[in-house]
Amino acid sequence: MQTLSGSSGTKQNPASRFAGVGVSPGRVIGPILLMPQAVPEPAVGERLAAGTSPEEACAALRTAAQAVQVNLTARSAGASGAGRAVLEATALMANDPMLVKAAVKLITNGASPERAIWDAAASVAEMLHNLGGYMAERATDILDVRRRIVAELRGVPAPGIPHSDTPFILVGEDLAPADTATLDPAKVLALVTSSGGPQSHTAIIARALGLPAVVAAVGVDGLTDGTEVFIDGAAGTILVDPGADEVALAAAWKTTSAALAVFDGTGRLADGHLVPLRSNVGGAQDAVKAAAAGAQGVGLLRTEFCFLERDTEPTLVEQVAAYRGVFDAFPGEKVVIRTLDAGADKPLPFLTDASEPNPALGVRGYRTDFTSPGVLARQLEAIAQAADGSEADVWVMAPMISTAEEAEHFAGLCAAAGLKTPGVMIEVPSAALTAASILRFVDFVSLGTNDLTQYAMAADRQLGPLAALNTPWQPAVLQLIRLTVAGSRDEGHNKPVGVCGEAAADPALAVVLVGLGVATLSMTARALAAVAAVLGSVTLPEAQQLAALALTAHSAADARRIVRDKLPILDRLGL
Ligand code: PEP
Ligand code: MG
Repeated sequence: MQTLSGSSGTKQNPASRFAGVGVSPGRVIGPILLMPQAVPEPAVGERLAAGTSPEEACAALRTAAQAVQVNLTARSAGASGAGRAVLEATALMANDPMLVKAAVKLITNGASPERAIWDAAASVAEMLHNLGGYMAERATDILDVRRRIVAELRGVPAPGIPHSDTPFILVGEDLAPADTATLDPAKVLALVTSSGGPQSHTAIIARALGLPAVVAAVGVDGLTDGTEVFIDGAAGTILVDPGADEVALAAAWKTTSAALAVFDGTGRLADGHLVPLRSNVGGAQDAVKAAAAGAQGVGLLRTEFCFLERDTEPTLVEQVAAYRGVFDAFPGEKVVIRTLDAGADKPLPFLTDASEPNPALGVRGYRTDFTSPGVLARQLEAIAQAADGSEADVWVMAPMISTAEEAEHFAGLCAAAGLKTPGVMIEVPSAALTAASILRFVDFVSLGTNDLTQYAMAADRQLGPLAALNTPWQPAVLQLIRLTVAGSRDEGHNKPVGVCGEAAADPALAVVLVGLGVATLSMTARALAAVAAVLGSVTLPEAQQLAALALTAHSAADARRIVRDKLPILDRLGL
């Protein structure tokens, strides 16, 4: 993206308008707050500053630790759910006597307070880690706390999502999945990142929370805290110092978004062709919300989201409880549960190696079965136990399958666990090209268009500069989807192909996917009503015509423009 100058007609300052990639619709106005820079590690061996006595340094450290504790405690009181739990746990750790005592000892030996707390926290974290179980998980909190104490000692903002008593637009480079635990949707009006692509986790999170979002908006992190901006999450624009036009657009969006919050629970085209609309969820809480939003089951349960940051394998009992919570939200409906997709941007310390040189192409998803055999089989056992006695129709699928042999092996593991409906995700181009062979062994496939796009285009889904390549509107990606559907009908198969990547949540692209022969779509619950409204405006032959136009377009931008021009409902709804 570039910084545009004066293209709105009202703004002439070259830095008054930014363009990125719109990834979640919505028009809002508000002041920005920047995500603080990561706190760098103090220099190894950093000593006490000349003229500072160890007593003074110890006092400074104690004051900083207390300040961090007081601040986190105050914030936890105003938070709820997982965010509150994270903040409470971190607050307790901040002034932990063992931690402070270890740091004081290092200061007495001449270390600077920053270096002392850094090293003391590392030792405490290692000790907790070695204890295993619940204690091992607290190691992450200790490492978070040390960054906060160092920030306090240096007088710089604390890391993580900034805190404010009033609503704000969050601006940063990118968000990690773990940041979301402390993201309060009542305070954050919109998300804007200078990096990240349409399939990045920032984009996924924004859509799940129903927050307008723009990614890959280069230069936007040069703005200062408090700057008032207008965000258009469909157009992908950010305008500094908005005027009367933008105020009117933001007010109109409030009305439209209320109308787009209602889905009647049946996805269908204008001619009555049924397209079940399911939801992507990360745990029981999401599932309950999705059921309330009318989702026709779950098309993707990202099980790794139940255990992010764990550094030990969750026990059978923990897993059964996590999965059962989701199944119970959908009695009588289909729930597609995906086995752990650890790795790349979703590391699970007990399963993946953070030092891999090229994690997106590394041991992730199903491939962790090569390096940690047994974890997958135990997870399938937990899924079978959770499914047993639940009223949901449980289907299970593996992520990152590349070959028919892998699909066969996975189907064998499912059968051994007593799971009757195995499937796989199609998110590696080799799997799309060999869908017919894969479907000899499994009962369904689900297209993971986020990864399918990054691998087809050889473009990291996290990287802002590659955002234009990294869109499922790319004709090459649409061809892979077409081939997958063709494979599902070859060799006498008649097996369902779904989409659970973010493409399904784009209402215009949803029409194209159905036109290509995709049977079901799964998305964040927030997108259900918008996708249903747009699907309901076309017949199947019209969707097929739009798919043919998109497939033969010369570029992703052309494909998107051609299809959007033929769907006037999008403009009417501000989508
Ligand atoms: C995908 O790749 O499209 C997908 C749904 O999986 P994830 O986004 O969790 O990698
Ligand atoms: Mg994926």
